[in-house]
Amino acid sequence: MTKAIVIEKTDETQSVSLRDIDLPPLAEGEVAVDVAYSTLNYKDALALTGAAPVVRSFPMVPGIDLAGIVRESLHPDYAPGDRVVLNGWSVGEKYWGGLGARAHLRGEWLVPLPEGISMRQAMAIGTAGYTAMLCVMALEANGVTPESGEVVVTGASGGVGSVAIALLAAKGYTVAAVTGRESEAEYLKSLGASSIVAREELSGKPRALNKERWAGAIDVVGSTVLANLISMMKYHGTVAACGLAGGMDLPSSVAPFILRGVTLAGVDSVMCPRPRRIEAWQRLARDLDMAKLESMVVEVALKDVITTAPKFLEGQVRGRIVVPVA
Ligand code: NDP
Repeated sequence: MTKAIVIEKTDETQSVSLRDIDLPPLAEGEVAVDVAYSTLNYKDALALTGAAPVVRSFPMVPGIDLAGIVRESLHPDYAPGDRVVLNGWSVGEKYWGGLGARAHLRGEWLVPLPEGISMRQAMAIGTAGYTAMLCVMALEANGVTPESGEVVVTGASGGVGSVAIALLAAKGYTVAAVTGRESEAEYLKSLGASSIVAREELSGKPRALNKERWAGAIDVVGSTVLANLISMMKYHGTVAACGLAGGMDLPSSVAPFILRGVTLAGVDSVMCPRPRRIEAWQRLARDLDMAKLESMVVEVALKDVITTAPKFLEGQVRGRIVVPVA
């Protein structure tokens, strides 16, 4: 028996509880992991509240992230005692995830935890932080350097936004933080933001082109905010788009792409190929200021996960939530 958060569905109603479950026997190629820490991401909140059809099989143990220690391995690359981290691969959506004491996972989904990162720090980073790293890598791949000009980060007080600011500042970029929460200005500056931009500035009806303002952008909001960002990019600027906190639509125009050579770089963490994940985790171990990471963390007990989830959808979560599981 394993203690876990379990989402069940009967007809159209969804229920969530913390209870004991039986894991299926370990299959060939799988690894049994004793989960030390998990976390809550925006997608976990969608799954736990049922606000979007994230869960594709019931009953489901949610949790798209986990960090833990290998207990038993039927995969040649892992042995008992190894420290591992898991992000995505539809875990917590199609396959039982990290918000439980033990998980059975395909060995090829796991990433060995780099030296220098604790399991708690790995979950303070979580999918949000690893996605922030993928976004920074997308800007770099498109030639955005600290010399190119200011880089803007939206949804700045949230998980992806907070880590993105810390990573960019550490690399010497000048960072503008877009937030709907004026009260978080000092927090955002402590992470490395040079200036704060009110969300309303990017919430008006988007024009095809606006005054050139930013060399790079990391956007977690989508919709009108993303459309406005695209219209404000400098010549040959790049927007790394990873989120939909403000909506799925994109009321934009081709003008910035064909007149300014702007690049819209989509970022996906879930199915991201393994070599890129390993690179992202090594970069996080090297580049992320762990004291700043700690300043983003709020710990939530497993028993309080269910009541905490709705706060994401209300835009009330600051930084990263870590869930001790062991
Ligand atoms: P958080 O809830 O931690 O952060 C989202 C932030 O966006 C909020 O803190 C808030 O920041 C801002 N925000 C919230 N609601 C709105 C709104 N209606 N309009 C404009 N801004 C809003 O979530 P995460 O950082 O974990 O995730 C952010 C987004 O990125 C989500 O949509 C998530 O699904 C997506 N994501 C995608 C991944 C991928 O693989 N593509 C991986 C990880 C996340 P503030 O108050 O400062 O404005």
